[in-house]
This record gives sequence, C-alpha cells and structure tokens, in this order.
Amino acid sequence: MKKRILLLAGGQSGEHEVSLMSARSVLSALPRDQFDVTPVVISKQGRWLPPTETQRALESGEAPTGGDLVLHRAASAEGYDAVFPLLHGPMGEDGTVQGLLTLAGIPFVGSGVLGSAVSMDKIMTKQVLASAGIPQVAWALAVRREWQQDPHAVRERAAQLGYPLFVKPANLGSSVGISKVARAEDLDGALNLAFSLDRRVILEAMTAHKPREVEVGILGNDAPIASPVGELRFDADFYDYETKYTEGRASMHIPAPLPPEVAEQIRTLALRAFRALDCAGLARVDFFYVEETGELLLNEVNTMPGFTTTSMYPKLFEAAGLNYSALVTRLVELALEDR
Ligand code: ADP
Ligand code: MG
Ligand code: MG
Repeated sequence: MKKRILLLAGGQSGEHEVSLMSARSVLSALPRDQFDVTPVVISKQGRWLPPTETQRALESGEAPTGGDLVLHRAASAEGYDAVFPLLHGPMGEDGTVQGLLTLAGIPFVGSGVLGSAVSMDKIMTKQVLASAGIPQVAWALAVRREWQQDPHAVRERAAQLGYPLFVKPANLGSSVGISKVARAEDLDGALNLAFSLDRRVILEAMTAHKPREVEVGILGNDAPIASPVGELRFDADFYDYETKYTEGRASMHIPAPLPPEVAEQIRTLALRAFRALDCAGLARVDFFYVEETGELLLNEVNTMPGFTTTSMYPKLFEAAGLNYSALVTRLVELALEDR
C-alpha cells in the first residue's frame, strides 16, 4: 500500500519562499510508486490553503493569502501516514507545528517539539551544547524589557565580550536581524533592530579571525550518521541575508578542503550536538573553523535545513552516495520508525 504523505510548505517566517522552492524539489522527488503526496501551502498569515490555491502558490512561488485557520485544517491531516513539515524558521521549524502534529497523533519528518524548539533558539542551543562540552564562541543573553529599563547593563555585557561582536534575535534564521557590530557606538542600533524582531537577543563574541564556515548533515533517529563536511565560501564581511539569497554570491565546496582529523572532529561534534539537543530525522550542523588558531566552534543547528536539490544538506548526502530521491524516502521511513 502506498503511504499517504502530507507535505507542508511556505509558512509564516521570512523563509516562506525558500520553503516553497524546497517543497517543489521534494514533491518531484518522492517516488510515486511508494507515496501519495498531498501538498498544503501555509500562507504568511498562517492559514492552510486548499488544493487550488496551494498549487498556484507552488507554481508562482509567491506568498498567498486566504485559506483556513490552522486548527480547522489540521484535522484534515488525519488519515495521512506521515507529514513532511518542510517549513523553516519560527512557526514551523521551532516546535509549534511539531506540537500540533504530536497532538494529532501523526508521525512527521524531523525533530519533535523539544529538539525543534531548543535548536531554533540560539540561547537554549548554546546552553545545552555548553553542558555537553561542545566548543562555542563566548556569548551573553539580553531580554527586551531589560534593554528598555536598564540599557547600561546590556551595554556592559557587550563591552565584556569585546568588539567586534554579533547581535542576533534568538529565534530567527537566514541572518534576518543580525548585525556585526564593530564599535560600541553602533551597539544600540543593532540591539534595537534585534529587539524589534524578538523578545530575547543573543550577543556573541566574534571568532578571533574571520572564520571558515563548514557544515555537516546528520541523518537518522537514535543511530544517526554524519555526511562529509561541506564549506561555504562567499565574498562578504559575513554570511548575511543578501549573500545567502543573491544568485552567485556564495559557493559550496564538498568535501571541504580540511585536514582529515579536523573533518572527523566536525562530524563527531555534530553527532554529539544532535544527540544532546534530542534531534531526530535530519539536521544541518554549522561550524566556524578558525584556521589561524585551529579552533572549531559550533555555530548553530538547523533542524529543517534548506532542501532544494542544490541546497547544502542534500548535496552533502549526495556526496555520501545517497541521491535526493533516496534521501527524502529515507526521511519518511525515519518518520515512520518506532523509537
Ligand atoms: P542564521 O541562523 O540566521 O543563519 P547565524 O548565527 O548562522 O544566523 O549567523 C549568520 C552568519 O553570521 C554566519 O553564517 C556567519 O557568517 C556570521 N556570524 C554569526 N555569528 C558569528 C560569530 N560569532 N563570529 C563570526 N561570524 C559570525
Ligand atoms: Mg539558522
Ligand atoms: Mg546560519
């Protein structure tokens, strides 16, 4: 019997369009002799679109409006064998949709509520990984109310980390709201921007030199495997939104030209992080490698990484001998696995 799969795409975050691109790739790759796939696009307003609007959104790649309230629509997820929540960022990758599907009793691809929520939050991730002994940059937390009532305390904390530093909303992705702050004079503007997007903000010391950015894919549930390591190169001060989404600004190198022991250490640390964060199914774990000092620092864990046929995560597993179609099939199998 064919498995009935509900593919959720779009969503309320700034990565709506990226998700639609990934969804088109997954839709054409899931083998039709094994799976009966129904896509549902979620609008930026959080509404679940009926089939014709979903089709139109997938074809045009534009954020649609209209649709039904999530709770009304979610009931129709019943009857599916599994859901593939191909959603990036808040309200999709952060445990919210995972909670809904858990309540509905439907298996789904990827991490559960805990792994999704903790990995989405840069502060919680840092805390969990610190207790697992995984190396990271120095960092500090700031909360909006504190920034409003006692900005001096927040400025003090930044000064202790030293400049340049990074200011980031705790729960976003795609570099949205992130600033590299070179001097104390520029701190307030960066904090105001980050606090306009999130109640909690992370301040991070910059790596000692501009880091190399290396990434590894993890696949599996309780016996996960690591892909080869890939590297992103780009011509910009840091990997900001524009560099990420402007064609031709960044290039991917698989495998990353690294000493074998460094690559092995990256894979080991990534597997340890995946377990510590209680991830499942898949994750892309991103590191900074500071060549000058030999330091390897874990930057972040993405529980639903970009998933077009040319995205890093599928490319990493392709290099490991698992083609795109085999990879998505494997992810659905992992969703259905007894754990
Ligand atoms: P996002 O989740 O939006 O991708 P990241 O934490 O990965 O946010 O930061 C985006 C980019 O900013 C990184 O890929 C890197 O180029 C740069 N960056 C972030 N934090 C640091 C840091 N502490 N030191 C050096 N570069 C950083
Ligand atoms: Mg991220
Ligand atoms: Mg990142």
